[in-house]
Amino acid sequence: MSKIFAANWKMYLNEEESIDFISKMSSNKDLFADKKVMIFPSHTALSSVKNALQIMPNIKVGMQDCDMKLSGAVTGSNSISSIPVDSCIVGHSERRIIFKEDEKVVKKKLENSLQAVETTILCIGETLDEKNQDKTFEVVDKQLSILPSALNGKKLIIAYEPVWAIGTGLVASNDYIAEVLSYINNAIKSLYSDEVLSEINLFYGGSVDESSVESLSTIPLLDGFLIGSASADFKKFENILKKMR
Ligand code: PEP
Repeated sequence: MSKIFAANWKMYLNEEESIDFISKMSSNKDLFADKKVMIFPSHTALSSVKNALQIMPNIKVGMQDCDMKLSGAVTGSNSISSIPVDSCIVGHSERRIIFKEDEKVVKKKLENSLQAVETTILCIGETLDEKNQDKTFEVVDKQLSILPSALNGKKLIIAYEPVWAIGTGLVASNDYIAEVLSYINNAIKSLYSDEVLSEINLFYGGSVDESSVESLSTIPLLDGFLIGSASADFKKFENILKKMR
């Protein structure tokens, strides 16, 4: 199976830049025709990106985060039902750290997202301190403890993103990622039937770029990548896709 490329544009591109990016994709449609790509623009660019991507229906579009609530008095936030999307990211480490989102908050977002969209990405991963204290599996267990007992036909991507590798230029080694993915795989095997497991994909994220993606693509159990900064630069995005196996 070819790998899935989820592009988390964070707050890198404004609406105009996002549309410009999509128009570069459109003029290079053949490269993207058989690729599995998901794009997570900033919320303000979502609607324009969705419209611009209508001519490339294989490219999925999602929200970078959603609120715990579906509607109500939450100034500045965005409900998962604010705009129809294919996917949503929950539990990103930037949300956990900057916005102090704990497991209770991420669980509520996960539930909302699983109800509303086709594919939810749950991000998990340890900080450098936790890694140095040999707590990686403990953190993974805690972050996976919010998984629901059923997925009700929806798809779930568990993105293993060690916090120390996000935006730092440090990529975890293939062996390290393989070991953690294997741990995650065993953990979910004890929760779900084979039928449900076939709807779950495992990703890696953390400073993936055009120089690391080819080697990372060989990691067993890995189905795709969640990529931040390199995904918001069209040239790098293109090169990553060409090198992804
Ligand atoms: C991310 O934010 O999910 C991520 C992996 O970022 P970067 O690729 O920039 O490290």
